[in-house]
Amino acid sequence: MDFLRPASWEEALAAKAEHPTAVPIAGGTDVMVEINFDHRRPEYLMDLNRIGDLREWETGADTVRLGASVPYTQIMENLRAELPGLALASHTVASPQIRNRGGVGGNLGTASPAGDAHPALLASGGEIEVESVRGRRMIPIDEFYLGVKRNAMEQDELIRAVHLPKATGPQQFSKVGTRNAMVIAVCAFGIALHPETKTVRTGIGSAAPTPVRAKEAETFLAAALEEGGHWESGAPIPVSVAKQFAQLASGACNPIDDVRGSAKYRRHAVGIMARRTLGWVWESYRGDGRTAQGGAQCA
Ligand SMILES: Cc1cc2nc3c(=O)[nH]c(=O)nc-3n(C[C@H](O)[C@H](O)[C@H](O)COP(=O)(O)OP(=O)(O)OC[C@H]3O[C@@H](n4cnc5c(N)ncnc54)[C@H](O)[C@@H]3O)c2cc1C
Repeated sequence: MDFLRPASWEEALAAKAEHPTAVPIAGGTDVMVEINFDHRRPEYLMDLNRIGDLREWETGADTVRLGASVPYTQIMENLRAELPGLALASHTVASPQIRNRGGVGGNLGTASPAGDAHPALLASGGEIEVESVRGRRMIPIDEFYLGVKRNAMEQDELIRAVHLPKATGPQQFSKVGTRNAMVIAVCAFGIALHPETKTVRTGIGSAAPTPVRAKEAETFLAAALEEGGHWESGAPIPVSVAKQFAQLASGACNPIDDVRGSAKYRRHAVGIMARRTLGWVWESYRGDGRTAQGGAQCA
């Protein structure tokens, strides 16, 4: 195995063009597991850690540009106000050691349906900035996940950053695991209120071949909130609406039975998480309308 160590982004793109099968390594918290277990034996490993730009973020007027290798710890510590859903999801990833190394670029590179960043990214909306020597393109998050551990990147492309809108309303994230830390999600749910457009977005993890949105549930809830004048009044959401939202979220799942949980349990748990997180974001909206209250919940 050859080890490539580009000193700049341009060098990395050139190396990836020359060796399209080269496997990039950022935090290494997925890559090294695969290599150690001999699930992967790449001809070239390309270390991205000399490219400082990948560990930086910029906060603009409406968006955050998050470098691909910004570790979860930094997101939790520095971007809680701008990206509350992603900060809550980051908090549930593994352990402090893994959160100090791993980042969203690696989660997207692996594109596991169980990756914790995905439900938060889908709920917030945003775009993935990918680049090759052929040029740069922005992939909307909704078009990024193609199949189990398959994403929309070409072989010569690298992820440079993730562009996310700054939260304009409350966001929440919930994850069911077999214990409270160091656990892969049995399933997960993210929700974001977007009051400026009177819309709701969601993300479901580990309950379909790819991370998915519960689009019917989103449309139903936005219509119910609009019809009842809830965005203006902040009045409590009727139980029947919350119940229907949960059922539709559950229906958006296409899970399998595996060692972590049955399909039936996952459908059920997603419904419960949808209802709970809706309650949390709505309480928050009725309060100061912006902050993500409470923490991500693991059960
Ligand atoms: C003990 C343990 C517990 C874990 N628990 C969780 C958990 O609770 N939740 C969770 O979501 N994940 C968990 N993971 C998985 C892992 O930590 C995450 O997926 C993390 O986000 C990976 O980031 P990384 O920087 O370490 O990626 P790496 O391992 O460096 O890379 C992962 C993949 O992304 C590709 N890649 C990385 N950077 C780029 C780039 N810039 N452009 C293109 N491709 C790139 C790599 O080639 C590779 O295919 C766990 C891992 C371990 C070892």
